[in-house]
Amino acid sequence: MKVWIQNNSKALSQQVAQQLQVKLRQAGITIQANHPDLVITIGGDGTFLSAFHRFNNQLNHLQFIGIHTGHLGFYTDWQDNELDQLVTHIVADDKKVIEYPLLDVQVTYTSQQVAHFWALNEATLRQVSQTMRADVLINDQKFERFRGDGVVVSTPTGSTAYSKSLGGALIDPTLEVMQFNEMAPINNRVYRTVNSSLILTHNQILTVIPDPGSDYIITIDNLAYDHCAIQKIQYKMADQKIKIASYRPKNFWLRVRNAFLVDDQR
Ligand code: NAP
Repeated sequence: MKVWIQNNSKALSQQVAQQLQVKLRQAGITIQANHPDLVITIGGDGTFLSAFHRFNNQLNHLQFIGIHTGHLGFYTDWQDNELDQLVTHIVADDKKVIEYPLLDVQVTYTSQQVAHFWALNEATLRQVSQTMRADVLINDQKFERFRGDGVVVSTPTGSTAYSKSLGGALIDPTLEVMQFNEMAPINNRVYRTVNSSLILTHNQILTVIPDPGSDYIITIDNLAYDHCAIQKIQYKMADQKIKIASYRPKNFWLRVRNAFLVDDQR
Protein backbone atom coordinates (compact mmCIF):
# COMPACT_ATOMS: atom_id res chain seq x y z
CA MET A 1 0.00 0.00 0.00
CA LYS A 2 1.43 3.37 -1.10
CA VAL A 3 -0.02 6.49 0.45
CA TRP A 4 0.53 10.16 -0.34
CA ILE A 5 -0.41 12.93 2.10
CA GLN A 6 -1.34 16.34 0.73
CA ASN A 7 -1.86 19.15 3.25
CA ASN A 8 -2.55 22.88 3.09
CA SER A 9 -0.14 25.43 4.57
CA LYS A 10 -1.91 25.85 7.94
CA ALA A 11 0.40 25.06 10.88
CA LEU A 12 -2.10 22.53 12.26
CA SER A 13 -2.36 20.75 8.89
CA GLN A 14 1.44 20.49 8.66
CA GLN A 15 1.59 19.13 12.21
CA VAL A 16 -1.15 16.56 11.53
CA ALA A 17 0.57 15.54 8.26
CA GLN A 18 3.81 14.85 10.14
CA GLN A 19 2.03 12.83 12.82
CA LEU A 20 0.16 10.82 10.20
CA GLN A 21 3.31 10.16 8.23
CA VAL A 22 5.01 8.71 11.33
CA LYS A 23 2.00 6.54 12.20
CA LEU A 24 1.66 5.21 8.64
CA ARG A 25 5.38 4.40 8.39
CA GLN A 26 5.27 2.61 11.76
CA ALA A 27 2.41 0.54 10.35
CA GLY A 28 4.60 -0.47 7.40
CA ILE A 29 2.96 1.79 4.82
CA THR A 30 5.06 3.49 2.15
CA ILE A 31 4.64 7.24 1.67
CA GLN A 32 5.24 8.24 -1.93
CA ALA A 33 3.92 10.83 -4.37
CA ASN A 34 4.62 8.69 -7.42
CA HIS A 35 1.56 6.57 -8.26
CA PRO A 36 0.09 6.16 -4.77
CA ASP A 37 -2.89 3.87 -4.09
CA LEU A 38 -4.40 6.27 -1.61
CA VAL A 39 -4.20 10.07 -1.24
CA ILE A 40 -5.02 11.53 2.16
CA THR A 41 -5.69 15.26 2.22
CA ILE A 42 -5.32 17.37 5.35
CA GLY A 43 -7.01 20.78 5.41
CA GLY A 44 -10.39 21.68 3.97
CA ASP A 45 -12.47 20.90 0.91
CA GLY A 46 -10.17 23.28 -1.02
CA THR A 47 -7.18 21.03 -0.21
CA PHE A 48 -9.16 18.02 -1.37
CA LEU A 49 -9.96 19.78 -4.69
CA SER A 50 -6.25 20.56 -5.20
CA ALA A 51 -5.32 16.90 -4.60
CA PHE A 52 -8.03 15.77 -7.01
CA HIS A 53 -6.58 17.95 -9.78
CA ARG A 54 -3.01 16.92 -9.01
CA PHE A 55 -3.84 13.23 -9.33
CA ASN A 56 -6.73 13.32 -11.80
CA ASN A 57 -4.74 11.32 -14.37
CA GLN A 58 -4.77 8.34 -11.97
CA LEU A 59 -8.46 8.15 -11.04
CA ASN A 60 -8.89 4.59 -12.34
CA HIS A 61 -7.09 3.05 -9.39
CA LEU A 62 -6.61 5.90 -6.91
CA GLN A 63 -8.70 6.42 -3.77
CA PHE A 64 -9.01 9.52 -1.62
CA ILE A 65 -9.61 10.29 2.07
CA GLY A 66 -10.02 13.78 3.55
CA ILE A 67 -9.06 14.90 7.08
CA HIS A 68 -10.29 18.35 8.09
CA THR A 69 -8.28 20.71 10.27
CA GLY A 70 -10.94 23.42 10.31
CA HIS A 71 -14.67 22.89 10.01
CA LEU A 72 -16.27 19.66 8.83
CA GLY A 73 -16.10 19.53 5.04
CA PHE A 74 -18.02 17.74 2.33
CA TYR A 75 -14.99 15.78 1.14
CA THR A 76 -13.15 15.83 4.48
CA ASP A 77 -14.98 13.85 7.12
CA TRP A 78 -12.12 12.61 9.34
CA GLN A 79 -11.02 14.72 12.29
CA ASP A 80 -7.38 15.38 13.18
CA ASN A 81 -7.82 13.52 16.51
CA GLU A 82 -8.80 10.27 14.75
CA LEU A 83 -5.44 9.41 13.16
CA ASP A 84 -4.90 6.13 15.06
CA GLN A 85 -8.37 4.92 14.13
CA LEU A 86 -7.81 5.88 10.49
CA VAL A 87 -4.41 4.11 10.30
CA THR A 88 -5.94 0.96 11.84
CA HIS A 89 -8.62 0.97 9.14
CA ILE A 90 -6.09 1.56 6.35
CA VAL A 91 -3.95 -1.36 7.57
CA ALA A 92 -7.00 -3.63 7.96
CA ASP A 93 -8.16 -2.47 4.50
CA ASP A 94 -11.80 -2.80 5.59
CA LYS A 95 -13.02 0.00 3.36
CA LYS A 96 -16.03 0.42 1.16
CA VAL A 97 -15.29 2.38 -2.00
CA ILE A 98 -17.75 5.18 -2.66
CA GLU A 99 -17.80 6.88 -6.05
CA TYR A 100 -18.86 10.46 -6.74
CA PRO A 101 -19.83 11.71 -10.22
CA LEU A 102 -17.57 14.14 -12.08
CA LEU A 103 -18.37 16.71 -14.72
CA ASP A 104 -16.79 16.35 -18.17
CA VAL A 105 -16.04 19.78 -19.64
CA GLN A 106 -14.96 20.05 -23.26
CA VAL A 107 -13.80 23.53 -24.29
CA THR A 108 -13.42 24.39 -27.97
CA TYR A 109 -11.40 27.59 -28.39
CA THR A 110 -11.82 29.87 -31.41
CA SER A 111 -8.39 28.60 -32.51
CA GLN A 112 -10.16 25.19 -32.89
CA GLN A 113 -7.98 23.80 -30.11
CA VAL A 114 -9.95 21.52 -27.81
CA ALA A 115 -9.30 21.03 -24.09
CA HIS A 116 -10.85 18.50 -21.74
CA PHE A 117 -11.32 18.97 -18.00
CA TRP A 118 -12.90 17.01 -15.17
CA ALA A 119 -14.55 19.04 -12.43
CA LEU A 120 -15.30 17.67 -8.97
CA ASN A 121 -17.38 20.69 -7.84
CA GLU A 122 -18.25 22.77 -10.88
CA ALA A 123 -17.17 24.66 -13.98
CA THR A 124 -17.99 28.34 -14.42
CA LEU A 125 -17.90 30.62 -17.45
CA ARG A 126 -17.82 34.42 -17.08
CA GLN A 127 -16.85 37.44 -19.11
CA VAL A 128 -15.08 40.33 -17.45
CA SER A 129 -15.42 43.32 -19.78
CA GLN A 130 -19.17 43.29 -20.39
CA THR A 131 -22.43 41.45 -19.88
CA MET A 132 -21.90 37.89 -21.03
CA ARG A 133 -24.12 36.85 -23.92
CA ALA A 134 -24.42 33.21 -24.86
CA ASP A 135 -26.72 30.65 -26.42
CA VAL A 136 -27.50 27.69 -24.21
CA LEU A 137 -28.37 24.40 -25.91
CA ILE A 138 -29.59 21.11 -24.47
CA ASN A 139 -28.78 18.12 -26.67
CA ASP A 140 -27.99 20.46 -29.59
CA GLN A 141 -31.38 22.17 -29.36
CA LYS A 142 -31.46 25.88 -28.53
CA PHE A 143 -32.81 26.34 -25.01
CA GLU A 144 -32.23 30.01 -24.23
CA ARG A 145 -30.27 33.15 -24.98
CA PHE A 146 -28.41 34.08 -21.80
CA ARG A 147 -27.39 37.59 -20.79
CA GLY A 148 -25.84 38.16 -17.39
CA ASP A 149 -22.68 37.57 -15.36
CA GLY A 150 -22.05 33.95 -16.30
CA VAL A 151 -23.11 30.34 -15.97
CA VAL A 152 -22.19 27.48 -13.65
CA VAL A 153 -22.53 23.75 -14.20
CA SER A 154 -22.00 21.66 -11.09
CA THR A 155 -21.79 18.07 -9.91
CA PRO A 156 -23.92 16.64 -7.08
CA THR A 157 -21.05 17.07 -4.57
CA GLY A 158 -20.52 20.58 -5.93
CA SER A 159 -24.16 21.41 -5.23
CA THR A 160 -23.21 22.49 -1.69
CA ALA A 161 -20.54 24.89 -3.00
CA TYR A 162 -20.87 27.71 -5.59
CA SER A 163 -24.13 26.35 -6.94
CA LYS A 164 -25.75 26.71 -3.52
CA SER A 165 -24.77 30.40 -3.36
CA LEU A 166 -26.68 30.85 -6.63
CA GLY A 167 -29.84 29.31 -5.19
CA GLY A 168 -29.25 25.88 -6.75
CA ALA A 169 -30.71 22.68 -5.35
CA LEU A 170 -28.72 20.44 -3.01
CA ILE A 171 -28.31 17.09 -4.74
CA ASP A 172 -27.69 13.71 -3.18
CA PRO A 173 -24.35 12.47 -4.64
CA THR A 174 -25.83 9.07 -5.44
CA LEU A 175 -27.69 10.79 -8.29
CA GLU A 176 -25.74 11.00 -11.54
CA VAL A 177 -26.88 14.42 -12.64
CA MET A 178 -25.42 17.84 -13.41
CA GLN A 179 -26.94 21.16 -12.47
CA PHE A 180 -26.97 24.36 -14.55
CA ASN A 181 -27.27 27.71 -12.77
CA GLU A 182 -27.26 31.26 -14.09
CA MET A 183 -25.24 34.04 -12.44
CA ALA A 184 -27.21 37.27 -12.25
CA PRO A 185 -29.23 36.81 -15.46
CA ILE A 186 -30.85 39.90 -16.98
CA ASN A 187 -34.58 39.40 -17.10
CA ASN A 188 -36.91 42.15 -18.28
CA ARG A 189 -39.41 42.73 -21.10
CA VAL A 190 -36.66 42.44 -23.69
CA TYR A 191 -34.36 39.74 -22.35
CA ARG A 192 -35.53 36.44 -20.92
CA THR A 193 -33.81 33.43 -19.39
CA VAL A 194 -35.39 30.53 -17.51
CA ASN A 195 -33.71 31.75 -14.30
CA SER A 196 -34.22 28.40 -12.56
CA SER A 197 -31.77 25.60 -11.85
CA LEU A 198 -31.81 22.88 -14.48
CA ILE A 199 -31.00 19.31 -13.47
CA LEU A 200 -29.80 17.23 -16.41
CA THR A 201 -29.25 13.48 -16.54
CA HIS A 202 -26.09 11.59 -17.40
CA ASN A 203 -26.90 11.14 -21.10
CA GLN A 204 -27.64 14.81 -21.79
CA ILE A 205 -25.21 17.39 -23.13
CA LEU A 206 -25.41 21.06 -22.27
CA THR A 207 -23.66 23.40 -24.70
CA VAL A 208 -22.87 27.05 -24.11
CA ILE A 209 -21.89 29.15 -27.15
CA PRO A 210 -20.73 32.56 -25.99
CA ASP A 211 -20.63 35.58 -28.30
CA PRO A 212 -17.17 36.27 -29.76
CA GLY A 213 -14.71 37.75 -27.27
CA SER A 214 -11.28 36.99 -25.90
CA ASP A 215 -11.80 37.85 -22.24
CA TYR A 216 -13.75 34.88 -20.96
CA ILE A 217 -12.78 33.28 -17.66
CA ILE A 218 -13.25 29.57 -17.15
CA THR A 219 -12.96 28.05 -13.71
CA ILE A 220 -12.75 24.35 -13.02
CA ASP A 221 -13.17 23.97 -9.25
CA ASN A 222 -10.30 26.00 -7.75
CA LEU A 223 -8.45 26.46 -11.07
CA ALA A 224 -8.97 29.56 -13.21
CA TYR A 225 -8.10 30.22 -16.86
CA ASP A 226 -8.47 33.79 -18.09
CA HIS A 227 -8.28 35.62 -21.43
CA CYS A 228 -9.99 32.71 -23.13
CA ALA A 229 -11.45 33.06 -26.63
CA ILE A 230 -14.09 30.37 -26.68
CA GLN A 231 -16.18 28.96 -29.50
CA LYS A 232 -18.24 26.60 -27.33
CA ILE A 233 -18.20 24.58 -24.11
CA GLN A 234 -19.92 21.22 -23.78
CA TYR A 235 -20.80 19.79 -20.39
CA LYS A 236 -21.84 16.23 -19.58
CA MET A 237 -21.46 13.70 -16.79
CA ALA A 238 -18.03 12.06 -17.03
CA ASP A 239 -17.67 8.31 -17.45
CA GLN A 240 -14.88 8.52 -14.86
CA LYS A 241 -15.72 8.97 -11.16
CA ILE A 242 -13.68 9.81 -8.10
CA LYS A 243 -13.21 6.98 -5.60
CA ILE A 244 -13.43 7.70 -1.88
CA ALA A 245 -12.16 5.11 0.63
CA SER A 246 -14.89 4.98 3.25
CA TYR A 247 -14.48 3.16 6.56
CA ARG A 248 -17.74 4.21 8.18
CA PRO A 249 -21.19 5.16 6.91
CA LYS A 250 -21.50 8.51 5.18
CA ASN A 251 -24.70 10.48 5.49
CA PHE A 252 -24.83 13.35 3.00
CA TRP A 253 -27.94 14.95 4.49
CA LEU A 254 -26.50 14.87 8.02
CA ARG A 255 -23.43 16.60 6.64
CA VAL A 256 -25.64 19.22 4.99
CA ARG A 257 -27.37 19.77 8.34
CA ASN A 258 -24.03 20.10 10.15
CA ALA A 259 -22.60 22.46 7.54
CA PHE A 260 -25.54 24.79 7.10
CA LEU A 261 -27.97 24.40 9.98
CA VAL A 262 -26.62 23.06 13.27
CA ASP A 263 -22.94 22.76 14.08
CA ASP A 264 -23.10 19.77 16.42
CA GLN A 265 -20.04 18.12 14.84
CA ARG A 266 -16.74 19.86 14.30
P1 NAP B 1 -11.75 28.10 -1.59
O1 NAP B 1 -11.38 29.14 -0.63
O2 NAP B 1 -10.87 26.89 -1.77
O3 NAP B 1 -13.24 27.58 -1.30
C1 NAP B 1 -14.25 28.47 -0.97
C2 NAP B 1 -15.15 27.81 0.06
O4 NAP B 1 -15.90 26.76 -0.58
C3 NAP B 1 -14.39 27.18 1.22
O5 NAP B 1 -15.06 27.48 2.41
C4 NAP B 1 -14.49 25.70 0.90
O6 NAP B 1 -14.45 24.87 2.05
C5 NAP B 1 -15.85 25.62 0.28
N1 NAP B 1 -16.11 24.43 -0.53
C6 NAP B 1 -15.33 23.85 -1.48
N2 NAP B 1 -15.94 22.78 -1.99
C7 NAP B 1 -17.12 22.66 -1.34
C8 NAP B 1 -18.21 21.74 -1.43
N3 NAP B 1 -18.20 20.74 -2.30
N4 NAP B 1 -19.28 21.94 -0.62
C9 NAP B 1 -19.32 22.96 0.26
N5 NAP B 1 -18.33 23.87 0.39
C10 NAP B 1 -17.24 23.71 -0.41
O7 NAP B 1 -11.99 28.84 -2.98
P2 NAP B 1 -11.46 28.62 -4.46
O8 NAP B 1 -10.12 28.01 -4.41
O9 NAP B 1 -11.63 29.89 -5.20
O10 NAP B 1 -12.53 27.62 -5.14
C11 NAP B 1 -12.88 26.39 -4.61
C12 NAP B 1 -14.37 26.29 -4.59
O11 NAP B 1 -14.91 27.45 -3.96
C13 NAP B 1 -15.06 26.27 -5.94
O12 NAP B 1 -15.12 24.97 -6.45
C14 NAP B 1 -16.44 26.83 -5.63
O13 NAP B 1 -17.39 25.82 -5.40
C15 NAP B 1 -16.26 27.61 -4.36
N6 NAP B 1 -16.59 29.00 -4.61
C16 NAP B 1 -17.77 29.47 -4.12
C17 NAP B 1 -18.17 30.76 -4.38
C18 NAP B 1 -19.47 31.23 -3.82
O14 NAP B 1 -20.10 30.45 -3.09
N7 NAP B 1 -19.90 32.43 -4.16
C19 NAP B 1 -17.36 31.60 -5.14
C20 NAP B 1 -16.16 31.11 -5.63
C21 NAP B 1 -15.78 29.78 -5.37
P3 NAP B 1 -13.11 24.64 2.90
O15 NAP B 1 -13.01 25.85 3.79
O16 NAP B 1 -13.39 23.37 3.65
O17 NAP B 1 -11.94 24.53 1.97
